[in-house]
Amino acid sequence: MRDVIVAANWKMHTTPADAAELARTIAARTREAGVIRVICPPFVCLAAVREAVADDDPPVAVGAQTVHHELAGAHTGETSAPMLAGLASWVILGHSERRRDAYETDELIGRKLARAVDAGLRPILCVGEQLDEREAGRATGVVDEQLAGALEGHDPGALAAAGLVIAYEPVWAIGTGRNARGPDAAAMADAIRASLERRGWASRAADVPVLYGGSVTSANIDEFLAEPAIDGALVGGASLKPDEMAGIVSRAGLTARARGTA
Ligand code: PEP
Repeated sequence: MRDVIVAANWKMHTTPADAAELARTIAARTREAGVIRVICPPFVCLAAVREAVADDDPPVAVGAQTVHHELAGAHTGETSAPMLAGLASWVILGHSERRRDAYETDELIGRKLARAVDAGLRPILCVGEQLDEREAGRATGVVDEQLAGALEGHDPGALAAAGLVIAYEPVWAIGTGRNARGPDAAAMADAIRASLERRGWASRAADVPVLYGGSVTSANIDEFLAEPAIDGALVGGASLKPDEMAGIVSRAGLTARARGTA
């Protein structure tokens, strides 16, 4: 049975002074057996968050929001995967805000993926279409191309062993308050696994967790977790609100119990 995962993407919010308290509060309010909780704060808050949740049970994982595609070198302002040792065990890659703001391409994201896996980080690879692409009936094709570009040259066995997670995040749903419909997200989760299967993953594709992301709240999480193809959520705005996280993780706990993974 696939992992049930709720990952919090704090984006460019919180400071080292307030991140620990927020992480502690969220951790205390989201203790659900069988649900993997991941908090991804800004780089400068990783140490504070890690320290704050270190003793939580079940454990709370800490993730970075990106990582550089080189190991070290003249890359002012960047952070490499090996630098995250002791700070993070997960990493978000290819988030649409990085594709937009930092011009990340699928090929570059694939190089980051290699660094992340080599450093022992569990990757959450984000894919998703723009609104005009969905309206033109191209959503599945766009996501397939993103997967092809990012996964090119990677050994499926190594990525499966690293616990690769895919987050389906339609760009038009991120931070807009306009979420996708559960059945549409589930259809994309099926398409993602079919894409992996065609790319040499074979039966391993069925074991890859697929999260939905895009304006997830405690009020709409049920729509997504009612879909067996969806294994959790990547949560942005609502992940800064303990009440929201409590509701989202509580609903994820129901899925974990129904799957017998709790
Ligand atoms: C995200 O940051 O990945 C995200 C889905 O944001 P939001 O939940 O705010 O739409």
